Amino acid sequence: MSDPTVVAKDVVVSLAYKLTVDGEVLDEAGKDDAIQFLHGHRNIIPGLENELTGLKLGDSKKVSVKPEDGYGLTDSEEIEEISLEDFPEGIVPEIGMELEVKDEDGNDLYGRVLAITEDTVTMDFNHPLAGKTLDFEVTVVGLRNATGEELSHGHVHGPDGHHHH
Ligand code: ZN
Repeated sequence: MSDPTVVAKDVVVSLAYKLTVDGEVLDEAGKDDAIQFLHGHRNIIPGLENELTGLKLGDSKKVSVKPEDGYGLTDSEEIEEISLEDFPEGIVPEIGMELEVKDEDGNDLYGRVLAITEDTVTMDFNHPLAGKTLDFEVTVVGLRNATGEELSHGHVHGPDGHHHH
């Protein structure tokens, strides 16, 4: 089967991209380090994936993704005040510091320090890009058919069929 020529469901897409948030370039990948994903299987944020359908090899596009189609809106329930006693031992909290803490069930939560009082630390566990509009500039740099195994798993495997699970 020859390689596909447009982005469609079940096609493996290589995408060069630049991500700008609030006017600041946060992430960039050229042709050599393009991301690869199986299109139509929600392996990338839906607001971007939807806009890529139908693009041809070599096409570029600017896509602005609203928070609700990206990393979600900021959720006030994800902001928690924790007792300084429960703060990881040996770490002095500073505003803006990013770190992993354990919740009461022992799960690791990644968050940022928002505020500090004498005996509490307020942590924001929202995704750092929650509430943000994501401005992408993308170029389709590769298209190929997915293997049967990739389709059955719903994601791309690396060269030599290597798994990334
Ligand atoms: Zn797999």
